[in-house]
Amino acid sequence: MAWDVIVVGTRVAGAATAMLLARRGLRVLAVDRVAFPSDTVSSHQIQVPGVALLHRWGLLDRVRQTGAPPTRHVRFDSGDVVLAGSFPAYQGVDALYSPRRTHLDALLIDAARSAGAEVRDRFRVADLVWSGGRVTGVRGWDRGGAAMTETATLVIGADGKRSFVAEAVGARRYRERPVRAFASYGYWSGLPMETGEVYQRPGRAVAAFPTSDELTMVYVSAPIAEFEAARGDLDRHYLATLDGCGDLGERVRGAVRAERLRTTPDQPNTFRRSHGPGWALVGDAGVVMDSISAQGITNAFRDAELLSDAVAAGLDGGSLDRALAGHQRRRDRAIRPMFDFTMGLAGFAPRGIERALLRSLGGRQGEIDRFLGAFAGSVTGYFTPVNVARVIGVRGLLRLAALEVRREHRPVEAGQRTNS
Ligand SMILES: Cc1cc2nc3c(=O)[nH]c(=O)nc-3n(C[C@H](O)[C@H](O)[C@H](O)COP(=O)(O)OP(=O)(O)OC[C@H]3O[C@@H](n4cnc5c(N)ncnc54)[C@H](O)[C@@H]3O)c2cc1C
Repeated sequence: MAWDVIVVGTRVAGAATAMLLARRGLRVLAVDRVAFPSDTVSSHQIQVPGVALLHRWGLLDRVRQTGAPPTRHVRFDSGDVVLAGSFPAYQGVDALYSPRRTHLDALLIDAARSAGAEVRDRFRVADLVWSGGRVTGVRGWDRGGAAMTETATLVIGADGKRSFVAEAVGARRYRERPVRAFASYGYWSGLPMETGEVYQRPGRAVAAFPTSDELTMVYVSAPIAEFEAARGDLDRHYLATLDGCGDLGERVRGAVRAERLRTTPDQPNTFRRSHGPGWALVGDAGVVMDSISAQGITNAFRDAELLSDAVAAGLDGGSLDRALAGHQRRRDRAIRPMFDFTMGLAGFAPRGIERALLRSLGGRQGEIDRFLGAFAGSVTGYFTPVNVARVIGVRGLLRLAALEVRREHRPVEAGQRTNS
């Protein structure tokens, strides 16, 4: 084989995986069909655990050099309750960063090259090479349009939510959920932010964070069922949502729009089997979820590390297939709670217990910070029933139970009667 590993896709999952494998001395070829630097439809929050990985990999200073400021404080406004706090420190890091993807993806590719990986852009993979039931390489077209075949012990699909590699190997999907939401985001100059701002409104979620180039990114999520009605005038839908978030709409209207609004309804939610003979998946190719929780980049980094550990162990005399099976178990364990939490957020129907949790946090700074950490993914187990009951307390739970009883015994309005 010419290579130990070929990685298809060189953004956050692919470039990080190529870098980590090359740092372990493996012969790595990483290819992507686009030319870098290149933007993609994605906003930018790297959550605190993702920043901790960049720190560990020695890349956090490079991220800072992109001009993306750290965000340590967040104001969370649920409509009923406003909570302001800071992220708890996690592995030596206490801030999230929101660099533009043009900068982030390019610096990861640089890091992969510096580690010794060969990175080729404008290389489109069009087919997999098979031998004796195993994937043994890729066929594609290079930047000059010439047909190319490259062979490797392992081909990794880091080629995103519509992964060609996953389709070509028939990777089984599980825990799949229907698309729940569409998202729009825009860039504004003259909209300074001292903190990150997050708003929850009926059927809406909004986030505003400072990004690179002295811009602020403002993101809106809404139920997919409203997409057809909204698509005629997405700008109006976006600005009307911001008008419902305190003075955010007014501040955005007073700022300068730096770039056009980006909108996508393409937000699948699924796990895919992550490995098979001669192939593996990483990042969105393996697990993709709605952007409302802003976890995809952090997931990609964590997955890159878990997968590269498994590949290195498997190629270093161990059983590669067994090591890859272990990677899938670790990946799923790490990501499942946040996947379920994200599905709840993207359903836009907070339950009574969730509203009670938010109300109970008022004035309790330590708990507010832990709640923000849970949102960021650095505090685990926060939303388990036992912890939620602890935070709400006996009195809060009794009040909630009384409210539920009153709601159940409320007289039914004529228009709400059912035929049953
Ligand atoms: C609206 C929106 C907002 C988001 N906001 C956030 C956020 O704030 N924070 C966060 O953490 N996540 C966010 N995400 C999610 C995040 O963008 C993804 O999780 C992340 O980009 C996944 O990275 P990846 O490297 O797995 O795949 P991708 O970024 O999709 O990269 C895949 C690469 O593979 C290449 N490729 C595909 N097919 C081929 C082929 N046949 N040959 C060669 N190359 C190929 C593509 O060109 C591409 O460069 C958001 C997503 C959306 C849609």
